[in-house]
Amino acid sequence: MASPPTNLHFVLFPWPAQGHLIPMVDIARMLAQRRVTVTIITTPVNTNRIKPVIDRATEANLKIQVLDIQLPFAKAGLPEGCESFDMIPSVAYVANMFLAMKLLEEPAEEMVKALCPRPSCIISDGGFPWTSDVAKRLDIPRIVFYGPGCFASLCLNVVNNTNVVDEIDSDLEYFALPGLPDRIEVTKPQALSWGKGNMKETKETFERTEEAEKAAFGIVVNSLNELEPKYVEEFAKATGKKVWCIGPVSLCNKRFEDIAERGNKAANHELDCLKWLDSREPRSVVYVCFGSLSSASADQAIELALGLESSYKPFIWFVRRTSDEFERWISEERYEERIKDRGLMVRGWAPQILILSHQAIGGFVTHCGWNSTLEAVCAGIPMVTWPHFADQFLNERLIIDVLKIGVKVGAEVPIMYRGKDKLDMMVKREAIKTAVEGLMNDEDEAHTRRKRAQELGEMAKRAMDEGGSSHLNMTLMIEAITEEVTKKTKPITDIV
Ligand code: UDP
Repeated sequence: MASPPTNLHFVLFPWPAQGHLIPMVDIARMLAQRRVTVTIITTPVNTNRIKPVIDRATEANLKIQVLDIQLPFAKAGLPEGCESFDMIPSVAYVANMFLAMKLLEEPAEEMVKALCPRPSCIISDGGFPWTSDVAKRLDIPRIVFYGPGCFASLCLNVVNNTNVVDEIDSDLEYFALPGLPDRIEVTKPQALSWGKGNMKETKETFERTEEAEKAAFGIVVNSLNELEPKYVEEFAKATGKKVWCIGPVSLCNKRFEDIAERGNKAANHELDCLKWLDSREPRSVVYVCFGSLSSASADQAIELALGLESSYKPFIWFVRRTSDEFERWISEERYEERIKDRGLMVRGWAPQILILSHQAIGGFVTHCGWNSTLEAVCAGIPMVTWPHFADQFLNERLIIDVLKIGVKVGAEVPIMYRGKDKLDMMVKREAIKTAVEGLMNDEDEAHTRRKRAQELGEMAKRAMDEGGSSHLNMTLMIEAITEEVTKKTKPITDIV
């Protein structure tokens, strides 16, 4: 086994979306806590978003620096300043964003070359497959980070490497993904909601991502072995790679400021909403939030508002992106007045971990983004699952079928598949009411779900504690890189 690291330098390339940037920053801090020097390379808007966390880390003597890389807006046809997927004006710009990311290869390579001490490892998002070529040219091992857990990653691997999807004609039929440890059924649009997509630019990136995975030194995952043991094992087998589960990485946040200000500045009402939560009964409130990217149409937001109102359960709802139409409805219907004895609506960014860990919270209506899923697991909170797109339908299957800590709201069609029949595909207020009541009621099934969620939360904390599986996996990952670096720096005569 190699000796403890003293001069390791990891370079991190986070994908420009909150759901990837936030855990990557946590990984940076976890590495720096192990005496590794860390450089994060990202664009100025993202640098600005993570600045408070990084400043606090450097004040605590952690060796982390952030270097800015400029996106070629004009060349990629992107509006100036559009540096994160939550800033894209419309779906029409997704291809431009992929192109802009691709064009970073050359400047990024120059930046990595100029770093001192010489980088020992690159951890880059799967969405930056060109980092594999940079790593190869500079002879630096590259570890991939995808974002989701092993369950969703394995499902995607099955979808991409078998012809199971080609054999399905209907978009509505549920079929089982072959070769998985459990029977997992999805529809074709759900299976294809994450991956190559149907644009030239996204297809090209995902194909290169698959190639780059083959060349990778290993895969680092924000998960814990105990949460999805069979899937961790099968994912490692399917990829033939070392897979280090080092999470839930959100648990590395111990200071109030780090917990309260993750990813973005929380909406001004941070303290107001905590005060409001303080006034509620333990485990009585439903927290509603759909992550950093999903946004509901005005019609869907109205259904949600009515569904929450009719459930008669206390709720706190963070509306991250609102619309004039929805706000008009709220005001005309005096909705906030109507629900004020039990509901609070907040516009803006939620201090999510702070809220989830408040004793008043008893349930989470979530879009099943992987970070939100894990954050709910850490807090021991069961979920109403309402996937929108990407890996979220797969994460829902894990929550419902494997972990058994959720109630489905009944969303079946990925949002990007919504066409003319939009109203038919919306989740109706009755379904929202039924799911929220099912989650929060006093029946045996709900108790069992709550108990299971709490046990998983304890398990997650143990994994991150010293001696826990994720803590150990972080050690193993650093040791593997240390060995690799040592091998490379050995004189030729020693190798022969
Ligand atoms: N998040 C937050 N406040 C918000 C919305 C999101 O803190 O108002 C955080 C959330 O805690 C999570 C991340 O942003 O860490 C979202 O990642 P996730 O994978 O859940 O969903 P995505 O945004 O990628 O769809």
